[in-house]
Amino acid sequence: MDDCLFCKIVAEEIPSHKIYEDEKFLAFLDINPINKGHILVIPKKHSRNILEMKDSLSGELMILVKKLATHIKNKLNADGINITINNEADAGQIIFHTHIHIIPRFKNDGFKHWNGIAYPKGEAEKIQSILKLN
Ligand code: AMP
Ligand code: ZN
Repeated sequence: MDDCLFCKIVAEEIPSHKIYEDEKFLAFLDINPINKGHILVIPKKHSRNILEMKDSLSGELMILVKKLATHIKNKLNADGINITINNEADAGQIIFHTHIHIIPRFKNDGFKHWNGIAYPKGEAEKIQSILKLN
């Protein structure tokens, strides 16, 4: 993709602080980290987001993400790790090249999760009947 920032990082037309690279994937520091050591893991081959990736490649990507998350947790002595994927603009996706955030977390780092709201009576069953796959 000519106009894709992360494709340009893969092609080394734009610099990045690489953490890991193989023939299919690249991991580098997020330029605006939530905490130091926040990285992005991407497939080198362009896809818009995880929903549009080939299953075989997304399977491999998740194995690598687990390996890198464990590595970061150990090296930075993190208390926890968030692994997040934003898909489409309304879900917070800004760069439209598949990427997974790995974010080291520390006790009292101040990063807040979103708040859930309980289902009104009967609503959980309605949603369940819409979503049930088998
Ligand atoms: P998302 O909202 O999931 O699309 O996240 C895109 C992420 O890419 C953000 O966390 C940005 O800080 C990060 N980002 C944008 N440009 C660069 C860059 N040139 N190098 C590293 N990370 C970047
Ligand atoms: Zn791309």
